[in-house]
Amino acid sequence: MTDTPAARLAAFLDELEGARRGREVTLVVVTKLHPASLVRELAEAGHRHFGESRHPESRDKAAELEDLGLTWHFVGQLQRKKARQVARYADVLHSIDSVDLVEALEGGEPGDERPVRDALVQINLTDDPGRGGVAPAGLDALAERVAASPALRLRGVMAVAPLGEEPARAFERLASLAERVRSIDPDADWISAGMSGDWREALDHGATHLRIGTAITGNRATGL
Ligand SMILES: *Cc1c(COP(=O)(O)O)cnc(C)c1O
Repeated sequence: MTDTPAARLAAFLDELEGARRGREVTLVVVTKLHPASLVRELAEAGHRHFGESRHPESRDKAAELEDLGLTWHFVGQLQRKKARQVARYADVLHSIDSVDLVEALEGGEPGDERPVRDALVQINLTDDPGRGGVAPAGLDALAERVAASPALRLRGVMAVAPLGEEPARAFERLASLAERVRSIDPDADWISAGMSGDWREALDHGATHLRIGTAITGNRATGL
């Protein structure tokens, strides 16, 4: 066994063990643009948490692998029109970034199956309002809205480090924003941050959930 996804997972878990200093950290392996067979291989190696970012690709994979009872994290941008479909199979929604989206998740017909999903408020750490996430100025109002929603359980925050800034500085800001969300609900203590290139910096600043793709899966067929 040389350079397989399962071998890279084992190597990553080793590194993480040395870096996490006894803290509990959830590794979400992001498998977008990779086939269900790769997820199955990692599940057979014992992994349970997987991340996806593109509906309906994610729906099809979750359906194909339903027998495995995995935990699915939706980490991509959520479109209002598709949000309720995504919430049928995704256990954790990492990208709640507007009240409109919360309302869409609460909608539907009476009697529809509507599982309560774990939710993270995605924060935009850039100055570009076109990027995903709520601006820090709107964080408190949105987090309060999520906390009050019958469709969602507020668990914390999520962010992507901006290009062109030291990730450590961005994650430091994220940590203080996460603190604000914890003052709304002390149980909302998850911080989803850190990808293949910056997970150590994220961990240094309190990340509880790492979203790791290429370092474990290998390169994706097309970029995202
Ligand atoms: C693809 C993706 C990741 C994983 O990125 P890598 O650099 O491959 O580790 C993490 N978070 C989000 C939101 C993604 O879309």
